[in-house]
Amino acid sequence: MDCVFCGIIDGNIPSDKVYEDEEVLAFRDINPEAPVHILVVPKTHVNSCNCINEVNSYLISKIFEIIPVIAKKEGLTNGYRVITNVGEDGGQSVEHLHFHILGGKKLPVHFG
Ligand code: 5GP
Ligand code: ZN
Repeated sequence: MDCVFCGIIDGNIPSDKVYEDEEVLAFRDINPEAPVHILVVPKTHVNSCNCINEVNSYLISKIFEIIPVIAKKEGLTNGYRVITNVGEDGGQSVEHLHFHILGGKKLPVHFG
């Protein structure tokens, strides 16, 4: 399978890691859109939020337990944004489930 985030998880593609445990990896986005822009991914390949089910949903809980830990470590005391894009219309460019953590400035409010 040709997945860039699986390549990062496997260590074949370099990344700037900020958090890692057995099931979750977080690393800095290669093309940051805010002073802090981190991607949090499950280590097992899941295509997107659209593929969450009763077997793998624990990964979402884990990721959302880790996000505040990362936010604190990155000094995002004034807030931040968490985004996940799904599919072509949602603007998903990498088909491995990931949550963007964006912060470090007041982000513009936009929906679509
Ligand atoms: P999406 O558009 O799928 O929601 O987000 C994919 C994100 O992955 C983009 O923000 C893009 O900059 C980031 N990205 C793509 N390839 C790489 C890579 O090889 N390394 C890192 N660190 N980020 C990547
Ligand atoms: Zn993958």
